[in-house]
Amino acid sequence: SSGTPSYYRVLVLGSSGVGKSALINQFMSSENNISDEMSASDSTVSVMLDEEESLLEFCNFPDDQFPEEDINVDAYVLVFSIADRATYEYANNLMRYLRNDVCTDRSIFLVANKTDLVRKRTVDKNEARLCASYYSSKYVETSASLNHHVDNLLAGIVTQIRLKLNPD
Ligand code: GDP
Repeated sequence: SSGTPSYYRVLVLGSSGVGKSALINQFMSSENNISDEMSASDSTVSVMLDEEESLLEFCNFPDDQFPEEDINVDAYVLVFSIADRATYEYANNLMRYLRNDVCTDRSIFLVANKTDLVRKRTVDKNEARLCASYYSSKYVETSASLNHHVDNLLAGIVTQIRLKLNPD
């Protein structure tokens, strides 16, 4: 449908160095992205999905802090590196905190980044997937460097936000 696109805010969280900026940069140059100089900020991406446009604003957050409430947030993207076990534990803590303490029912994505570092993998895919499903979250493996599955993640975020807002 035409008309004003929906505007969604996505908070990207995770340890320093896991590839949050790299992922956001890939979103900005995604095939789906048709945004131009009209976009509201540097981290706003226009996504065309099912003939409907959505504007996603990707917000960074201090790497060592947890958000206290989820006002104005439509989805969370929790990023870790498959090559760094500690970043997975941190993402787990964020997940538990968001569901149990913030009590958010927003969409959460657990994103295993740096899948190109195959030989350095320290986080098992099934283990991470189980964690995500335990917390009613989606699990995606990406490589921001190779632009692998980054478009899937972007489309998945829009799909999940729309499902939450319009469950029928
Ligand atoms: P941030 O601190 O979470 O924003 O992490 P950055 O996006 O700044 O990335 C930290 C480092 O990891 C940089 O050197 C990136 O080039 C690198 N990096 C990001 N994504 C990937 C990836 O998918 N694979 C590999 N091998 N390196 C990555």
